[in-house]
Amino acid sequence: THPLLHDPALFRQQAFLAGRWVDADSGKRIEVFNPATAAVIGSVPDMGADEARRAIEAAAQALPDWRRRTAAERAAILRRWNDLMLQYQEDLALLMTVEQGKPLAESRGEIAYAASFLDWFGEEAKRAYGEIIPSPWPNKRLMVQRQPVGVCAAITPWNFPSAMIARKVAPALAAGCTMVIKPSELTPYSALALCELAQRAGVPDGVLSVVTGDAKAIGGEFTANPLVKKLSFTGSTPVGKLLMQQCAGSVKKLSLELGGNAPFIVFDDADLEAAVAGAVASKYRNSGQTCVCANRILVQQGIYERFILRLAEAAARLKLGNGLEPGVQLGPLIDQRAIDKVERHVADAVARGAHVVIGGTRAAREGTFFTATVLADVSPDALPMREETFGPVAPVVRFESEEDAIRIANATPAGLAAYFYSRDAARIWRVAEALDFGMVGINEGILSTAVAPFGGMKESGIGREGSRHGLDEYLEIKYLCQGGL
Ligand code: ADP
Repeated sequence: THPLLHDPALFRQQAFLAGRWVDADSGKRIEVFNPATAAVIGSVPDMGADEARRAIEAAAQALPDWRRRTAAERAAILRRWNDLMLQYQEDLALLMTVEQGKPLAESRGEIAYAASFLDWFGEEAKRAYGEIIPSPWPNKRLMVQRQPVGVCAAITPWNFPSAMIARKVAPALAAGCTMVIKPSELTPYSALALCELAQRAGVPDGVLSVVTGDAKAIGGEFTANPLVKKLSFTGSTPVGKLLMQQCAGSVKKLSLELGGNAPFIVFDDADLEAAVAGAVASKYRNSGQTCVCANRILVQQGIYERFILRLAEAAARLKLGNGLEPGVQLGPLIDQRAIDKVERHVADAVARGAHVVIGGTRAAREGTFFTATVLADVSPDALPMREETFGPVAPVVRFESEEDAIRIANATPAGLAAYFYSRDAARIWRVAEALDFGMVGINEGILSTAVAPFGGMKESGIGREGSRHGLDEYLEIKYLCQGGL
């Protein structure tokens, strides 16, 4: 299933190290599969600590020249990179759908979203202002400068193979940092295509490298190497915790975007149709495989029956299939492990009294597909209420009062996204302020954009990506005190 690209050079099967396309020292390779067909797409180098170290050293060598350039020079390169991504949007989307499975329309959307970080952060870095502080001493002057952190490393997941990279690399490069990335072994081709375009845009050798291969070995080098000043990770909470421990040895700066467990609350006074549309968008996008997907749907008793009915109708209309086929809205899950987890969640909910309104099983076809599922009367202690499901399952729970909804919503160690639907102005403020989540969608199921801060409270992570706060993550504050005046 070699993807048919307008520009075949975007399908790279080597890693990108210091401006060169290279294989693993060992010559070993890892195969990459299309989750919609189970066919092998190709393979990539199975690299380890040695190659990661060389990429880091190249990033350290490239750093002085890159950070010395003006923000405007770096922005011009990022802008060209953005333009190239949009120019090759169709090819990049095709590659993504083939390796990740999401519908082509969603892949196109992700490419545009990823590119927007390059453009936006290039501009924003021009405004990395310092400060002059009124001095408490007559003969001293106090100033604050913001400087690039230095060499950064990033580890990214498979659910947004392009955007999760752009969200890190754009602020890093815009700020004057250099970066080495390890993409998910399940979706390396989107990452490698980005390198090809970065080079064409004029990103100098060594400023950006992508190493593919053994996650543990490469992650070990990223976190142990003293040249690396910061690690940015998006992925599961257990791996995030492990990397945080590994970074302690050299006190690296950290950005972590970890798992969520988003509540989606529908109050009696909600606009029913808007709430259903928001739930469908938030729940079934990417087949439920996003960390901000509605994971627990809490519905107040007065609107409960009508909501379930309408949600089931809408979910039943979603077209399941290979993301390359026109009109498909529900692609495959990433792999068999993902299917196993979703099956476990459904079985546990049913064992605790839930009933399956629609779906509930894998699809009877090749590839790792699961049908759009709605579960009613789910018990608050069922698995999908406690853990991220990462699949197209909407577990619906009935609640009585606003206090109940807030208590259930907050009863999780995760704190990434939350959503609620209400038309009462006072309730909107009360609930928005009471939810312990880094992002709250109010009468809205989709909230990600390059201009707003994305990130979580509690165990969902540290730091923010996107917005001016996302740039701060790649800048150090330096205080200058000039005396003898
Ligand atoms: P998911 O469950 O979404 O696949 P993971 O946290 O396992 O989330 O994967 C996210 C990224 O972290 C991937 O690039 C993966 O290869 C990487 N990863 C997994 N385990 C480790 C590890 N022990 N050290 C470093 N990176 C890891």
